[in-house]
Amino acid sequence: MAATRAKEPLHEYRKKRDFANTPEPAPASPKSRRARKPRFVVQEHHARRLHWDLRLEHDGVLWSWAVPKGIPLLNKPNHLAVRTEDHPLQYLTFHGEIPKGQYGAGSMTIWDSGTYEPEKLRDNEVIVTLHGERVDGKYALFQTKGSQWMIHRMSPPADPTREPVPRDLRPMLATPAQALPRDQRNWAFEMKWDGMRVLLLVEAGQLTLTSRLGNDATSRFPELRALGDVLAQTDVVLDGEIVALDANGRPSFEQLQPRMQVGSASVARRLAAEHPVVCMLFDVLWLDGHSTCELGYLDRRKLLERLALAGPTWQTPPATIGDGQAVFRAAEELDMEGVVAKRLDTTYQPGRRSDAWRKVKTHLGQEFVLGGWLPGGGRLDGRLGSLLVGYYEDGDLRYAGRVGSGLNERNRSLLETKLAPLARDTSPFDKTPKLPDPHWVDPELVVDVRFQNWTGAGMLRAPRYRGLRDDKDPSEVAREIR
Ligand code: MN
Repeated sequence: MAATRAKEPLHEYRKKRDFANTPEPAPASPKSRRARKPRFVVQEHHARRLHWDLRLEHDGVLWSWAVPKGIPLLNKPNHLAVRTEDHPLQYLTFHGEIPKGQYGAGSMTIWDSGTYEPEKLRDNEVIVTLHGERVDGKYALFQTKGSQWMIHRMSPPADPTREPVPRDLRPMLATPAQALPRDQRNWAFEMKWDGMRVLLLVEAGQLTLTSRLGNDATSRFPELRALGDVLAQTDVVLDGEIVALDANGRPSFEQLQPRMQVGSASVARRLAAEHPVVCMLFDVLWLDGHSTCELGYLDRRKLLERLALAGPTWQTPPATIGDGQAVFRAAEELDMEGVVAKRLDTTYQPGRRSDAWRKVKTHLGQEFVLGGWLPGGGRLDGRLGSLLVGYYEDGDLRYAGRVGSGLNERNRSLLETKLAPLARDTSPFDKTPKLPDPHWVDPELVVDVRFQNWTGAGMLRAPRYRGLRDDKDPSEVAREIR
C-alpha cells in the first residue's frame, strides 16, 4: 500500500495512536480539510476609482473580481464585475494603505468576510452562497466578454422592503415670511445659506447633484465628488446648499456665479481647484434603501447627524431648536441671508412649497424676471446700463423697477450675451413703463436682486443686482413680501 502512504504522509503516526485517549494532536485528515468551508472577502478599495474587490478562496489562491458598484443587495440590476488576477490567500485579511505610485494605490478596508458554499466554480461561471456579516445569499458570477463578468444576486434580498434610490426627488421649498414663528419651541432654526440648492444622491459611492429644477449639476462641482467616496455603500439622498465662501468665510452668491454658469467640465475642474465651494447639508430624504421623508424633522436630523458628514468641501451646520431669535441675531451679525424655520412635527414634502418651512431674511431680496434693459451713457456708450425687472401676479408680468447697481464688467458681458437672442419689439410687462430707449426681451431670465424695501407704488427701493439664476423657473417668480 505504498501509494496510500505517499498520499497520506502521517499514516504511521495516526496508526499508532488512539486520539480519543491521548492529548497529542490528531493530524487534520485530507477529508476534514476538504470539509472546512472556503472563505471569501470583500474589500472596499479607494483606488483612483472606488470599487469593491470580491475574492473567493479556491485551489490555494483567491479568485478575484473588482466590482465598481459593490455586491448587489437586490436581484436587479446585475453589477459589472471585472475579473482580476488571482491573489494569494494572505490577501483574505489584508487591509491598509497601498502607497502612491504603486498598483492600486489608495486605502483598502475589509467591507465583509466569511465563508461560502460553492455550487459551481468554472472558468466562465461561478455560483456560490456567501455567508458574511453584511452579505448573506446566493450569487452567480458569469463571464460576458473577456475579463468582463456580471454578478447577480439569486437569493431574495435580505431586506425585502429595500428599494433602489429614487432619482426624481425634488427639494422641499420654504414659504417667505416677514417674521419668525411665535411658537418657537415647536420649530428648528437653521441658517439660510446664500447659494445654490441641490439634492445630493449617492449610490455605490457615485455622487449625483440635482438642481432645484431637476437638472444634473454634478460636473459643475467636481470638488464634491469625494463625498461619494466617503458614503461609499451608504445609499443616500441629502438636501443641501452649495455656497462659495468669500475671504471672510461668508457665503457669497456673487462669487458662486461663475460656478453656476460654467459650461465645460475642464473649466469646472480649474475653478474647483482655484476656489472650491462648500456644500452645507441639512436634511436626508433617503437612507439605505428606504425613504426617510415620512419621518419627522428631529428623526431625520438624527439620521443626518449620525452620518457625521464633515469634510473639506461639505459640512453639516447646526440646527437650533426653539431659540429662533438667537439664530436670527447671529445671522444679522454675520451678515447672512437669513434664517429658515422648520416645524419639528412635519415630514419632508419633496417638491412642495410648505408653510412648515419658512424663510425669514435679514435683508430684502428675491428673484425677478428680466423684461428688458436700458443702455448706459458715458463710458458705456449704449452698452447694458440697467436691467428692467418684474414679477408675476395673476398671470401678468408687473414691472418692479430698474437695477443698475451691482453691474460690473464681468457680469455685464455675460448678461449681454444672454439677452441678445431674447430681443423683441414689444414690452413683456402688463403696463409698459415710460422709459427712454428701452430694449425689450422675452421674459426668460431670472436674476437675484437685493433691495432696501418696496415703495408704496410697488417699486424697488435701492435695488442691487446679485446674479443670474438658472435654477429658477421664471413663471414661478412672484412678489415674496407684500
Ligand atoms: Mn482593487
